[in-house]
Amino acid sequence: MTTDILLDFPALSEEDVRAALEAWLATSPRWVPQDLMERIELRSWTTHRACSFALTSLVETREQLTAHRSHAGQAPNLPDPLAEATPLQLPVPETWSDTTHDFPCYSKGQVVECANCSGGGRHVCAACGGDGTVTRTRTVSSGIGENRTTRRESYTVTCSNCDGSGRVRCAVCVGTGELWAFPITRVGRRVLSSQGCYDRTALPDALLKRGEVEETLLAPGGLGPELDGFSPALRQRIVEDVEKQLQRQAGARLLVQRIDLRWLPVTELRYALASPLGKQRPAAPAQVTSAAKQPKPAAAGTSGILWLYGEERSVHAPELQTAPSWFVALVCVAALLLGIAILAGIVAISLAR
Ligand SMILES: [Zn+2]
Ligand SMILES: [Zn+2]
Repeated sequence: MTTDILLDFPALSEEDVRAALEAWLATSPRWVPQDLMERIELRSWTTHRACSFALTSLVETREQLTAHRSHAGQAPNLPDPLAEATPLQLPVPETWSDTTHDFPCYSKGQVVECANCSGGGRHVCAACGGDGTVTRTRTVSSGIGENRTTRRESYTVTCSNCDGSGRVRCAVCVGTGELWAFPITRVGRRVLSSQGCYDRTALPDALLKRGEVEETLLAPGGLGPELDGFSPALRQRIVEDVEKQLQRQAGARLLVQRIDLRWLPVTELRYALASPLGKQRPAAPAQVTSAAKQPKPAAAGTSGILWLYGEERSVHAPELQTAPSWFVALVCVAALLLGIAILAGIVAISLAR
């Protein structure tokens, strides 16, 4: 049975929670009532570990291609890198990057006819069209003074590209008319990355995606036993991410995977917020002291949930940060006025037509 390491985090005391809320109030968050600490009643809270993770996979694809090399009908006298290894076992580099490498297998090739010259080794000269000569024009002048005239005349010269033969040697097969066709294994490696968070509360994931890596797991062939000890939900989440990554690279084989983890405490706190007190009860100091000793009044106001997250115990309390009613009323009036203005504009345009 695996232990759920997500639960392995110390719980906060009430003093810790109050201190975190006071520190948050000191930063003057928008719309939060200033008398929050007097009105809030902390009901229950639990702390667990949330996990922010970055998943990286190095995958490999292999393609079989055919390459051609000019040669006089024989296998080039070259070594075949990794020709006999099946499957090719290539080392995994320390730093991962996108790469493409071709591994030719010269000895498994065969002689084929050169497609560029149809096996002739020569083809028609492109400069003269096969004539061996090219036609040029020049300007010729004759006469002196007012009788001077100029005209254009054509003349032919021997084609310098083919030395007058009208045919040139095929550059692809170097005149042999044959090529050595051999297989090539193209090994492509791609780095796939994704980031995610696992937190069992409704705290937005975006708030947890930060901080330094605390733990790195490296797994040749894919994460498996390395995830033992993770909660089933987190393991499921990571496995799904891995599958999504592989789907993006069709036919890819997983070489090695790395997961960078950061663990963060998340405290989910249920509270009640009493209706505002005090304003209607200006009292003498003696009365305030005695009132403070009495048990807190039952919260007639609202209740809600907030979260303390991270080592620094940041606060996420959207239910406490609601705009006051005067602001809502102002926005409503502004929207109404805007609506009337648009309507008046439409009416004015239709009347003008
Ligand atoms: Zn020519
Ligand atoms: Zn050729």
